Amino acid sequence: MQLSGRCYCGALAYEIDGEVEAQFQCHCRECSYITGGNANIVMVFGENDFRYTKGAPAIFARPDLENPVKRHFCATCGTGIGSRSPSRPNSMIVKVGTLDDPSVFHATAAIFTCDKQAYQHIPDGVPAFDKRPPKKA
Ligand SMILES: [Zn+2]
Ligand SMILES: [Zn+2]
Repeated sequence: MQLSGRCYCGALAYEIDGEVEAQFQCHCRECSYITGGNANIVMVFGENDFRYTKGAPAIFARPDLENPVKRHFCATCGTGIGSRSPSRPNSMIVKVGTLDDPSVFHATAAIFTCDKQAYQHIPDGVPAFDKRPPKKA
């Protein structure tokens, strides 16, 4: 799968060339902060299948957490591009809204519905998990 994307102002651009590892929507409390209130809609790719083609992201990680997620964003316009998570150490988690063609996304799971708000939507037929789905053997 070949994809491209950018931040809102265009200072950052990226390309993806590789298979999607996972695609899901996350309803956790942390994601609500990052998105502004809705679920976080993401696709996961191998870290080596993702590269910035323009600009370099600002990176934020909470200093008060032992093993924080590293959040990539545009220092000019503030758009979050995605994150690197200790739970998926070899992957880049990409925010679907920054893709040039966001229609490629199809949710395969809704996770952390323990924090889901009533106004956050889960499409019919998408399996929902209180936290994460059980690990595949
Ligand atoms: Zn920008
Ligand atoms: Zn989340």
